[in-house]
Amino acid sequence: MTDPITIPAELLPADGRFGSGPSKVPADAMSALSGLGRSVMGTSHRQKAVKSEVGRLRAGLGEFFSLPDGYEVVLGVGGATAFWEVAVFGLVEDRAQAASFGEFGSKFAKAIKIAPHLGEPTIVTADPGTAAYLSFEDGVDAYATPHNETSTGVAVDVKRVAHEGALMLHDATSAAAGLPVDLTETDCYYFAPQKGLASDGGLWIAILSPAAIERAERIAASGRYIPAFLDLKTAIDNSRKDQTYNTPAVATVVLAAEQVDALNAAGGLDAAAKRCAESAGAVYSWADARSFADPFVTDPALRSNVVATIDFEGVDAAEIAKVLRANGIVDTEPYRKLGRNQLRIATYPAVDPSDTAKLTEAIDFVVEKLG
Ligand SMILES: *Cc1c(COP(=O)(O)O)cnc(C)c1O
Repeated sequence: MTDPITIPAELLPADGRFGSGPSKVPADAMSALSGLGRSVMGTSHRQKAVKSEVGRLRAGLGEFFSLPDGYEVVLGVGGATAFWEVAVFGLVEDRAQAASFGEFGSKFAKAIKIAPHLGEPTIVTADPGTAAYLSFEDGVDAYATPHNETSTGVAVDVKRVAHEGALMLHDATSAAAGLPVDLTETDCYYFAPQKGLASDGGLWIAILSPAAIERAERIAASGRYIPAFLDLKTAIDNSRKDQTYNTPAVATVVLAAEQVDALNAAGGLDAAAKRCAESAGAVYSWADARSFADPFVTDPALRSNVVATIDFEGVDAAEIAKVLRANGIVDTEPYRKLGRNQLRIATYPAVDPSDTAKLTEAIDFVVEKLG
């Protein structure tokens, strides 16, 4: 038995949570939640206290994303995975084109493909670590892609395919709040709030364009079978009243509202995106400078500023992650199905760039000890 490796205190980040999701929830948000205590938790979601928290979150997101005219913040229960089905039932008319270059993009593509009421989608694929791109296709009424593929750390720009009448859907579960976006380039910017937004799980949030709302209303009126839980029209109607169709994860709403308010106070999306770029940039340049580490995403233009994936050579990354965990630095393991000798480091807005810098020093220390 070798002695356990103890990382010196001066190399330890102040907060050791680097998971890509669920991700670090700031201590201030936790205090605010406990301060709200009995007035919100354990009370009816149909009464003012909870509805005003939903309203605070919706308004805060509107400010944060500079909501274009007619766009609306809609939310419901079930996370991004539930929203895939919401979109399958309520946004895709018949034929979709979906980009698949990692676990999450591929899951949504599959949900579309197996839906019995939809036509055969076109799925454009690319190897993990690269990106697949959407392009004009006759007969397609919805285009879908992740903004940031959380499983691989690849980010693409949010950009419309020039196709009159077709909707653009962007999965921003890890991108939201950390990567720049112009919402006029999309019709549906959706996410679960436990990744980029530093909240807990259980909800989906979708920012919808007027065209997406119109589509949802038209499909809802078409007679298509839509399970009530996945009915986007119902979610839109409830969201307009600062409610959800069924009981929401109230703490998740409060924590998300806290984070959005904090980000707005700190300079909004531009400032948050800059912070993430700085944080991730430090990780990538550190890896570039080390003989034992390399950014997994070889094209620098595709490297995510919110999820940095680093391949290791000559040293077992799983062993590094284990030592880090024993020292209170958690969730740096790579996406389980990717199967690479890799660490995955979230650099969301909630993560302090000085902590990211400390993390790289801690890894250097561990690698030297293991070597
Ligand atoms: C985590 C993740 C999801 C799934 O989110 P859930 O809330 O667990 O359903 C979907 N898409 C992306 C890009 C993700 O990172």
